[in-house]
Amino acid sequence: MLPTANGNPQIGHLIRRLETAERPILFGHERPDGDALGAALGLMWLLRARGKKVTVSFADPVPGNLRFLPGADEVGNLPVDSHDLIVALDGSDERRYGAHFSRALDDAQRPFLLAIDHHKTNTGFADLGWVDSEYAATAQMVYALAKEAGWPIGEEAAICLATGCVTDTNAFATNHTTPEVLVTVADLMRHGAPLADIIRESLALRSVPDALLWGRILATAQIEEGVAWALSRAADRATLNATDGDGSGIAGFLRNVRGVQVAIQFVEQRDGQTRLSIRSNPSTDVSELALSLGGGGHAQAAGATLDMPLDEAVAHVVPLAKQLVTGARVADR
Ligand code: AMP
Ligand code: MN
Ligand code: MN
Repeated sequence: MLPTANGNPQIGHLIRRLETAERPILFGHERPDGDALGAALGLMWLLRARGKKVTVSFADPVPGNLRFLPGADEVGNLPVDSHDLIVALDGSDERRYGAHFSRALDDAQRPFLLAIDHHKTNTGFADLGWVDSEYAATAQMVYALAKEAGWPIGEEAAICLATGCVTDTNAFATNHTTPEVLVTVADLMRHGAPLADIIRESLALRSVPDALLWGRILATAQIEEGVAWALSRAADRATLNATDGDGSGIAGFLRNVRGVQVAIQFVEQRDGQTRLSIRSNPSTDVSELALSLGGGGHAQAAGATLDMPLDEAVAHVVPLAKQLVTGARVADR
């Protein structure tokens, strides 16, 4: 049997809202990843095939590794204008979607707001939300929605939805890779998604500045008491002409060092803030730590942005991560 919408009663209401809208606007979270973009663009193609005029709005530009997605060139930082439905995808709270989204929420006249998300830290900010952390990706939820609604899945939608499933499971290597997500991607391949090309484009290929930045960041790595951390300094990125998103796989790499339970990449921002990318192994859940720092995420992949400079952020967060690892060891006994 193909993966379904888990019999969730919300799903019928959600489909009716999507079916009756004529000009929906779809938002995904800031600094978009393959799942936010794959889910939003996948839903865009599905709804376009239903004759709707669809707008896709992201606060930040499409990163280089995702420009191959069909429709990527149509993504803009666009406000809610004459739209009749807002859909928020893959972001656990309203602050994750940027200024245009916040402005729309403050407007008493705003259209109805739907959310589709697989974060267990989702705050329930929408008028109607379908939130289920059993799904490996929001794109997988959009696929399940299409199946439930009986919408045909064209090649463009298949490529976008498969990309979301591929990137959020790190090419089926994470522990939330379920049989259902594999079956989903198998079906999307039948609808024209070229799996090997998608894995290479979205996850493997990197730019020269990104590759060189890895060296700089890894040179700062420290490992103590089951916690690994490394620093992406703004000055290093400037020297190499690298972007804020470059070097982004390093926490995932450091998590794989033997003995490491939690890996954190600290990304220095230009405005005195520090962004964290946190990864862990299954024995340690980092979503609560991220939530307590004002962010959110999943058990094994979470993040937050701290209003403190790099050194202060390291001094604040590393001891908390060490405590978390120690606590998990005690609980294991
Ligand atoms: P990243 O390390 O940026 O790839 O993010 C890993 C996971 O944490 C993703 O699922 C994000 O949605 C989530 N995440 C990252 N930053 C934040 C934040 N500031 N607030 C809530 N969730 C976040
Ligand atoms: Mn995401
Ligand atoms: Mn996701």
